[in-house]
Amino acid sequence: MSTPSHSVAMDGELAQAARRHLIREDGQEDLCFALWRPSNGGTRKTAILCELVLPNAGDRQVHGNASFNHAYFERAIGLAFSKGCGLAFMHSHPGPGWQDMSPDDIAAERDHAGASYGGTSLPLVGLTIGSDGVWSARFWERVQRGKFQRVWCGSVRVCGTGFQIDFADRVCPPPAENRKQLRTRTAWGASAQAKIARLRIGVVGLGSVGAIVAEGLARTGIETLVLIDSDRAEEHNLDRLLHATSEDARLSRLKVDLAGEALEAHATATNFHVDRVPRHLQEQSAYAAALDCDVLFSCADRPLPRHLLNVIAQAHLIPVVDGGILATQTKSGGLLSADWRSHIIGPHRRCLACIGQYDQGLVAADREGLLDDPKYIAQLDKSHPLAARENVFVYSAACASAELLQLLSYVIAPLGMEGLPRQMYHSVPGILDSEYSPAGCDAHCLMPQFLAAGDQVNSILGIEPDCELPTNTRDPIWARFLHGVANRIRQVKTSLRALARHLA
Ligand SMILES: [Zn+2]
Ligand SMILES: [Zn+2]
Repeated sequence: MSTPSHSVAMDGELAQAARRHLIREDGQEDLCFALWRPSNGGTRKTAILCELVLPNAGDRQVHGNASFNHAYFERAIGLAFSKGCGLAFMHSHPGPGWQDMSPDDIAAERDHAGASYGGTSLPLVGLTIGSDGVWSARFWERVQRGKFQRVWCGSVRVCGTGFQIDFADRVCPPPAENRKQLRTRTAWGASAQAKIARLRIGVVGLGSVGAIVAEGLARTGIETLVLIDSDRAEEHNLDRLLHATSEDARLSRLKVDLAGEALEAHATATNFHVDRVPRHLQEQSAYAAALDCDVLFSCADRPLPRHLLNVIAQAHLIPVVDGGILATQTKSGGLLSADWRSHIIGPHRRCLACIGQYDQGLVAADREGLLDDPKYIAQLDKSHPLAARENVFVYSAACASAELLQLLSYVIAPLGMEGLPRQMYHSVPGILDSEYSPAGCDAHCLMPQFLAAGDQVNSILGIEPDCELPTNTRDPIWARFLHGVANRIRQVKTSLRALARHLA
């Protein structure tokens, strides 16, 4: 599947308010404006809707096909300009499903694209909602002075306590049916499978849990996966790192390569594509690759990537599936407890810091590289998750499975459920706890302030330029030479992509 270049995202509460206004009881069409902020990934531009500008009395006529008065458009543009946002125009159609545009729709949006661009320096975004709440969207990109071209969005996602993603089949065609996925498709139906398969999913951290999560996603039929991890296989990983062999540890191979090669062999999608990003999430190209995703898995146990994912979930409206394992021992070295938890974070959901999944005080230490220092780790309390070393393959498999179930429930929404509650399994003595409250963040938490901020948060996250990819000193000379060439090609590709973005 080619990467769709444009998309729109909105949080659940804004979507609910828009839907209440646009889908009328009398069945007539209605309209409104909204403001949006950019979220630019490596290959995808997303308009993050951040505020509705609802019409006042006299702002529009509702008469079958709704139309707006110029003063309303001017008011919306003024608001967008004063807040540094782009302008979006939303309207409803009386029929269900993904909506095309009538000649009147096209004329209305194209004729306002210039004034909108002139007032905000951002393209006008148009959205249509069907009677069943399915969204479609397009950008009006400036191609030359006074000329604007419609570019359809690949998807519109609504991310909140629940999740909705509507794909444009003409941009992202539904996956081809194949016999490899027969049992999977019959488990939840072809339409749920068409939704799951088209999600672009990123896995951050390809350690014991991440490698199993990625394998589960590839077997389930996901067409595009993005693997982000700069780590290499080592001998002490072999008891729980799926796909890794002693030879891989001896050669100190990248974990994204081990997983990437295996997934290419095991994936069940007809058009499967995996991107390997051998970098830290705080490096520019890894961060940009994460912003191209519809869902992210947080499988790195360090505070810095968890902090970045926590902010990405709020600001860029990309839900993050997270989890973790904690095992402890008795004084005599026996097994005392082994617990794993799983949850999804995002807008209007409790964040990773409030759940206690990372220590915000250690984010800076992680950035400085202090957590790579065994002396620093040694001074942490032994029960601190970063100091704990106990883990085995079956705990990782169970934790990965719990995280995958969180995703499936969130996307498929069986029986109308909005995903699973946060869960913690205590394998000693064998109890599953579900936690429903508190649903949101603690009062002092800053995360909700980042809601729908988009790229505005990038400057405070300390995203670094890509560092030169280190060569693996255990590789033979010819391999290091090829690695150097591949590095160069990657750098040229990155600069070309940046240039293309700049020209666009
Ligand atoms: Zn229309
Ligand atoms: Zn919070």
